[in-house]
Amino acid sequence: MKQKNILLIVVDCLRADHAYEKKAHIPIMRKWMGQGFSFHNVIASTSTTTPSFASLLTGLYPFQNGVRSHSGYSLKKGIKTFPQLLKEKGYNTYAEVTGPLFKKTGLNRGFDEYNYRNETETVHTEWGEKLLEKFKNHYKEPWFVLLHIWPPHLIEGLFPRRIVVSKRRSRKYGKTSFARSVSGVDLYLSKLERVLDKNTLIVLTGDHGEQISTSLSDTASKRIREMSFRVRKKLGLTKKHFVKGIRECFVGHGYNVYDLLVKVPLIFYDKKLVKKGKSECQLRQIDILPTVVDALSLKSDIACTGKSALGLMKGRKEKNRDAFVEAVGIIIPNKDEWLSGIRANNKYKYIYSPYKENYEEEFYNLEKDPDERSNIAKKNQRIIAGLKKKIKDMKTEKMLGEKMTWKTSKEEEEMKKKLKKLGYF
Ligand SMILES: [Zn+2]
Repeated sequence: MKQKNILLIVVDCLRADHAYEKKAHIPIMRKWMGQGFSFHNVIASTSTTTPSFASLLTGLYPFQNGVRSHSGYSLKKGIKTFPQLLKEKGYNTYAEVTGPLFKKTGLNRGFDEYNYRNETETVHTEWGEKLLEKFKNHYKEPWFVLLHIWPPHLIEGLFPRRIVVSKRRSRKYGKTSFARSVSGVDLYLSKLERVLDKNTLIVLTGDHGEQISTSLSDTASKRIREMSFRVRKKLGLTKKHFVKGIRECFVGHGYNVYDLLVKVPLIFYDKKLVKKGKSECQLRQIDILPTVVDALSLKSDIACTGKSALGLMKGRKEKNRDAFVEAVGIIIPNKDEWLSGIRANNKYKYIYSPYKENYEEEFYNLEKDPDERSNIAKKNQRIIAGLKKKIKDMKTEKMLGEKMTWKTSKEEEEMKKKLKKLGYF
């Protein structure tokens, strides 16, 4: 049988609710969801792009693969990636990425072509049209294509905003600019679907979620975030004082591990291979590629923490998979800003600071309080003790990260400048 092509679409910042609830006009994603198999409780390893992609491509948590943050880390030597495995299995492997996913991160490991583009080149510009041509003429079958789509991510500048294609600017496509931007991505996916060979497995997910402003413009919200950061730093307050108070007019990601920042959609679509269905079982981002290779009956020799979820797709019942989550902040350097946590049994979230003393731990019952508003840590010390033990057993402290090495200090400065432009101030 002819080997299937694999298209892994990662829409930056795509929150699970914007794929699964009627918040944006997304007929193509809804069709893939309705005719394919969707997982509704998938948890990203971090709320930041680079470490989340590293987790996705290795099936390992950041503390295992070395990519611990958005800056200064690269994939540890000797770690086999899923693109490497696919290459061994006869696939031609291509990545189309942007944002902070520089080659220097080592995330190009296993790709025949790792095409990094400037974030101004999007699916809505000439680049998007050229990409459609690549599917027709350039990618050699069988192919694995990692497609990183950027428009919902906030674009920095004097007036931070999100890219919304002109045909989707009306409020009927979504109440927020984020929703309208996602709707624009869906419009492009309809074009993409038309050029794809039928013998293709489509997998759609997000790298992490996003805090969306519902009451202010993205520009105003961005300014409030920056101001709150500066004031907080000056007064020595914890981020909790600010973030909790102004959540409705806050934007971005990376600052915490709340569900809206780490819960991503996961849809498998292939009329022949994938049975229709959905699962509420809690999964992790690290389980995605092990599931893909299993679904294609490819034997994997990758020693990763992620496990296939094919059983669930075949209708079997399974236990929720506890997910370790991290937030690595939005500033450089940033260890004081880091937060870690565990999302257990699709029910509890425990958040703590691994480096800062006296950070008030947080604990939420997600069934009763899905928006994580009411911190009930004090009354639940017994459950928290159990969760702390689970985290200890993972040995999350065992690897502090694989530091990037620089040829020149100029090279380092240039990357920092680029990251600042992307919003990691
Ligand atoms: Zn991202």
